[in-house]
Amino acid sequence: CKNMDAIDAIDAIYDKVVARDPNQTEFHQAVKEVLESLEPVIEEHPEYISIVERVVEPERLIHFRVPWVDDAGAVQVNRGFRIQFNGAIGPYKGGLRFHPSVNASILKFLAFEQIFKNSLTGLPMGGGKGGADFNPKGKSDGEVMRFCQSFMMELWRHIGQDCDVPAGDIGVGGREIGYMFGMYKRLQNEFQGGVLTGKGRSYGGSLIRPEATGYGLVYFAREMLATKGKSFEGTKVAISGSGNVAQFACEKVLHLGGIPVTMSDSSGWIHVPAGIDREKLDYIMDLKNNRRGRISEFAEKFDGVTFTAAGPEPTVNGLWGVNVDVALPCATQNELNGEEAKMLVANELIAIAEGANMPCTPEAVEVFQESGVLFAPGKASNAGGVATSGLEMSQNSLRMSWTREEVDAKLDAIMVNIHNNAYETAKKYNREGDYVFGANVAGFLKIAEAMQAHGVV
Ligand code: NDP
Repeated sequence: CKNMDAIDAIDAIYDKVVARDPNQTEFHQAVKEVLESLEPVIEEHPEYISIVERVVEPERLIHFRVPWVDDAGAVQVNRGFRIQFNGAIGPYKGGLRFHPSVNASILKFLAFEQIFKNSLTGLPMGGGKGGADFNPKGKSDGEVMRFCQSFMMELWRHIGQDCDVPAGDIGVGGREIGYMFGMYKRLQNEFQGGVLTGKGRSYGGSLIRPEATGYGLVYFAREMLATKGKSFEGTKVAISGSGNVAQFACEKVLHLGGIPVTMSDSSGWIHVPAGIDREKLDYIMDLKNNRRGRISEFAEKFDGVTFTAAGPEPTVNGLWGVNVDVALPCATQNELNGEEAKMLVANELIAIAEGANMPCTPEAVEVFQESGVLFAPGKASNAGGVATSGLEMSQNSLRMSWTREEVDAKLDAIMVNIHNNAYETAKKYNREGDYVFGANVAGFLKIAEAMQAHGVV
């Protein structure tokens, strides 16, 4: 029957993806989730099968050597990557990640997710991602600068404000973007304001960009709660991570009257039953952004706080056992497994929205969906970062800068729009409340229409 045709075609595409790169498990995981959602779309549009075949293959994969000299005078060599996955609706756009775990599989999964995320924002941005297996932890400013400069000495020839616009991600914040922008400007001999986003304010950065992913995540979660007639007021929230996304998610939860009770880093997690208030969040921001310390120091500073060291697996060793109403995983991929999802459900979790990319394993997602907990995939709920990067690009093109309030209002409106788009799309296919399905299908349809129009390229 028709349905079996669609399923068979999708299965064949997935099998080919696995056969081509058998070791790229994170990439397979991301592709599988999207392809599963597309079955009813393929039934309706059999002509999109050839689009799906092409959408799982990156347009370009750049892999390069990054040599640099450390403070001791020794030569170090890292691997740099840029995946230009899909440029059907705009210049490639997506962050750069500097972390020892970076490899082609992780970057391909991230770049693939980015295609649909960027499409969902409604802004004209294609999907890309890049980075290096460089570990900025413990490196001096000089070492980080020399690494960033060497990285850009190769990357610059592949990017540009109308071609590919990288931003930050794990391990790449304002400092790294500044060093890379400086080297790009020197090599290109042009002030191309829009070539990178997440820039400092003094050279073309947008207000609210640092806050955008975390704020946007909470705006999205606010809309999810509203579908159940609930709000953040008095709601207990578990947050993992203590980096850029986690910090500003925590700040926005506080603005909306919620009570964040946990945060973490790769060394372990803190539990603050009375809630992380403004003073405690300021301490965490200073600890992480300026002193670059470990979260365990927080428990030494404040009373009534417990610290639990991380085990090898899972990454946050018990954090998801805390009794909360809302969960916001904001650290890294696959940090919340099926067993942990069951603990959250047993504690009557209402909603979970992914701040990180793919932090929930497929087993965890299944547990949430089967139990009726509201679950938002990162490609919808953490799209506020890239959306505000899009707003930064607009301001660079206009040679104007909008006020904090203007950017924040646009971000809020975009998140509401993404929520409603995912929600309504799921409803249209009788999958009401299934944000995974809604986000994948809504994101894909726009890409498919553009790719169809462009012919076979
Ligand atoms: P940061 O580097 O600022 O923070 C990452 C946080 O997660 C840190 O607390 C870090 O701990 C922790 N972490 C990272 N890797 C691991 C690990 N393997 N195990 C345990 N903890 C870990 O990154 P961001 O906040 O920018 O990014 C977090 C997530 O959000 C990523 O998945 C990223 O792709 C996603 N994201 C980010 C966007 C952005 O605008 N920045 C946009 C959309 C998604 P430690 O300090 O010990 O390493």
